[in-house]
Amino acid sequence: MASEFSIIDAYFKPLSFPQSNDSSCKSKQIGIGDDGAVITPPANQQLVVVTDTSIENVHFPAQTSAYFIGWKSLAVNLSDLAAMGATPAFYSLALSLPKHLNNKEWLTEFARGLATLANIYNIPLVGGDTTKSDILSITITANGWVKPGESILRSNAKVGDDIFVSGNLGTAGLGLKSVLNTLPKGFVLKNEASCILELNQPKPRVELGLALQGVANSMIDLSDGLLADIQHILTSSKVSAEINYNQIPLNADLKHYLSSTKDKLFPIICGDDYELCFTLPASKRKLLVAVEEFCQIKLTCIGRIVAGEKAEMKLTGLDNADSKLSLESLGFKHF
Ligand code: ADP
Ligand code: MG
Repeated sequence: MASEFSIIDAYFKPLSFPQSNDSSCKSKQIGIGDDGAVITPPANQQLVVVTDTSIENVHFPAQTSAYFIGWKSLAVNLSDLAAMGATPAFYSLALSLPKHLNNKEWLTEFARGLATLANIYNIPLVGGDTTKSDILSITITANGWVKPGESILRSNAKVGDDIFVSGNLGTAGLGLKSVLNTLPKGFVLKNEASCILELNQPKPRVELGLALQGVANSMIDLSDGLLADIQHILTSSKVSAEINYNQIPLNADLKHYLSSTKDKLFPIICGDDYELCFTLPASKRKLLVAVEEFCQIKLTCIGRIVAGEKAEMKLTGLDNADSKLSLESLGFKHF
């Protein structure tokens, strides 16, 4: 069993050097091994700071492979940076490790998962903390740069904006059902592997977040389910929304699942999508084709922002009577 310091040296120090010499974050300025990391911010940039904790059996099933745990722990943080329209810059890692995972195989794969994603964005690991724990818990703080005033907030949605989401919704949720064996008896996913991959290896929409600077009025990333997350935009912006259920983008397996169960709300309350949801003024709509092409991602209009300070959401297009939703009970909540 490796000591705290040999774990840091063997597995985490190598991650403090990104693949190339990005001028915004020279590795010689920062790094692991002192009491704190020292960062020189680039001129005329604001720092965006996000933190997310991932705990076994809360955020991922305990049987998830170490590689995916590493990837996803960082991905959920980069998704928050994406939602702010920030460029990822560096991150820190607080690892609470149970004894049975303190072995070469697990730590190598965990570090490889982190490194694979970090290398895409060329971001170094600048420090952290390593402790023993009864359960596995990973807290990452990721930091990004944005030009002053260019971050995209939840609080700026305007009446008349269209509401868009990237990708498909509910795919990772279906992957989770498959992993946990909670799909209806006899129900077979045609693309089970890709549903499970969406769950384990979400792609943070960093390029999309950047492309929407100066285009989207407001934005959030989808982690707790569309309805619950949109609610944050409505509350912060003091507006209401109309969402058309029939426009929610779904893959073929999800359409099949919805046609064979009564679980109609599943794709909009299940969480783990890590897609971006943003609101767009009509004047910017023609820019969206270029954004979609540049980022190689499907963008779908699912509704619009309407007047109403009470942050109400009207969901149309469900078979039953159109419903005005009280969102208290919807979406993932820890408490
Ligand atoms: P201190 O006792 O001063 O808090 P530590 O002994 O915990 O420092 O850590 C030693 C060095 O290793 C520090 O630079 C710290 O940032 C780094 N470090 C510790 N754990 C991790 C980790 N999980 N990932 C990256 N760096 C780490
Ligand atoms: Mg110290």
